[in-house]
Amino acid sequence: MEYKSSCPLFNIRLSISIVALVIPLSFILITLTTITTMTGPVVYAYNVMETAGDNHSHLNFVSTMTTMNASSYFGSENATSNSKIAPIPDAAMGPTIPKKGYLVEEIRDNLYWVTDGSYNTMFLVTDEGVVAVDAPPSIGQNYLKAIAEVTDKPITHIIYSHAHLDHIGAAGIFPKNATYIAHEDTSAELKRAISLTKNDSTIPPIPTITFPNNYTLQIGNQTLNLDYYGDNHMPGNLLIYAPNQKTLMLVDIIFPGWVPFPYLAIAEDIAGFIKAHDISLNNYDFDTFVGGHLTRLGTGDDVATQQEFISDLEKAAAKANSEVQFSDIAKQVGNTNDTWLLYSKYIDAVDENCVQTMLSKWESRLGGAKALMSTHCFAMTEAGRVNPSVSAILQNSTMTAAQN
Ligand SMILES: [Zn+2]
Repeated sequence: MEYKSSCPLFNIRLSISIVALVIPLSFILITLTTITTMTGPVVYAYNVMETAGDNHSHLNFVSTMTTMNASSYFGSENATSNSKIAPIPDAAMGPTIPKKGYLVEEIRDNLYWVTDGSYNTMFLVTDEGVVAVDAPPSIGQNYLKAIAEVTDKPITHIIYSHAHLDHIGAAGIFPKNATYIAHEDTSAELKRAISLTKNDSTIPPIPTITFPNNYTLQIGNQTLNLDYYGDNHMPGNLLIYAPNQKTLMLVDIIFPGWVPFPYLAIAEDIAGFIKAHDISLNNYDFDTFVGGHLTRLGTGDDVATQQEFISDLEKAAAKANSEVQFSDIAKQVGNTNDTWLLYSKYIDAVDENCVQTMLSKWESRLGGAKALMSTHCFAMTEAGRVNPSVSAILQNSTMTAAQN
């Protein structure tokens, strides 16, 4: 994959290998940022995965927030000593995670969610057995304990939301003879990983049922609809809908109460990422939303809030791209042969313009806005310069902003 800048002076080539590096690095970044900013009265218990022979220990440093005293946290001196630290809005707060390291609760009618305060997922108890969605390594063996708390039925089906290991990397904890269901692109990515690895025990089980568009899992009177609308966060990322429970799950797109994971949650297709908000709201009747990350469940209001956030980001990115001129930055830097220095100063200036526009409205509304806004601004402004679809979307945003 290769991107070329529309900037007349430069062709920007970012190889896909950089993206591959960004995934683990940004994961580390957000975790370290969270841990760093949550010192003081906030107590963490590290959720050490108990899986024997665990191959995803690099994902295990995700901490579990066991207690969180927001008022004392906000009042601490530590909280004002770092410019990236901002009070966490009430909207970002979730339930307290018990000392055992996870929380399991019924959403409705035998559909449960399980969370460690950083990741979450859901499972459905049917007459014949349990349908488990995903297997985040940060929850790991606690997923089995959570299921055993509410039923003694066997786990018969596993659904992968998408191929990312931080969501399905612990799927080896499930019975080998279970039915594993995923989109065909998810299966293809896991098979590619098998072909590349020297240790295939690190790869989650290959799906036994795959499909290109839609699949309905019907067991007794329980139903899960698995729907694919094209690339968004990554190829194969599904919308998983439980109609009886009016619950929609879509992972790594919408983050209830928080801004997304860095760089628009490393969306591989930003136009598809934007469209997924509309699809969620327009195509599904749901009361409960499961996003795969962070502190709490969501609702349609959370999806609408992030839709508004993304719409604002489009306008802020379009404004920054039009207001910051590369030639002005080049004059400020002066004579240099260092092309990347010039470009880094340019993207810093674009980012700063976009961040200032966004923070005034969103810093107090969504968790992590101050810490991560520059990553979201970079993702949207850069895509707006080089990606035809996102460029078109930003042009529309500019027109809308001008009309207001
Ligand atoms: Zn993902």
